[in-house]
Amino acid sequence: MTVQPVRLFGDPVLRARADEVTTFDRELRQLVTDLTDTMHASGGVGMAGPQIGVGLRVFVYDTGDAAGHLVNPSYEVLGEEEQTGPEGCLSIPGLRYDVTRALRLRARGVDFRGAAVEFEAAGLLARCVQHETDHLDGVLYLDRLTPATRKEAMRAVRESTWFTMGKTVMSAAEVATAKSAAAERSS
Ligand SMILES: [Zn+2]
Repeated sequence: MTVQPVRLFGDPVLRARADEVTTFDRELRQLVTDLTDTMHASGGVGMAGPQIGVGLRVFVYDTGDAAGHLVNPSYEVLGEEEQTGPEGCLSIPGLRYDVTRALRLRARGVDFRGAAVEFEAAGLLARCVQHETDHLDGVLYLDRLTPATRKEAMRAVRESTWFTMGKTVMSAAEVATAKSAAAERSS
């Protein structure tokens, strides 16, 4: 296990554009492993490089139905159907808000060896690909909320214990705890 601390909203690494991967070496393989272990330890369905402080265009995902990673990802929306549903972010622990995303897409990229990867996704996996690709451009799901919901979300962020304490990093176990506490509150 190589679980890494999770960077939180307020850390500038989450607002920077991540760099394309150009070297396919052991370090990249280790990054994919670290991201996967940290995502699982945090109880998430996706995680991008910047969330553990690495400004490279890599993300991992595990929706339960599909798991993997994508290096230098891009996607093309298929059709015009949208989905609106609750979304959260491990870097903004304990909060969830409805976000509208494309329902279907075709994702492309390469794996840690540099081999081409391409797949079609719908529903949760499509949502995940859009959320994680946003991370690589310094975009957070808060930016995708309607103005009224965004206002409410920003208030909730400012009232969060971690934000009030000026924390910009949290252990994966703490993120998982905040996440399950929030799930109990909303159920
Ligand atoms: Zn996120």
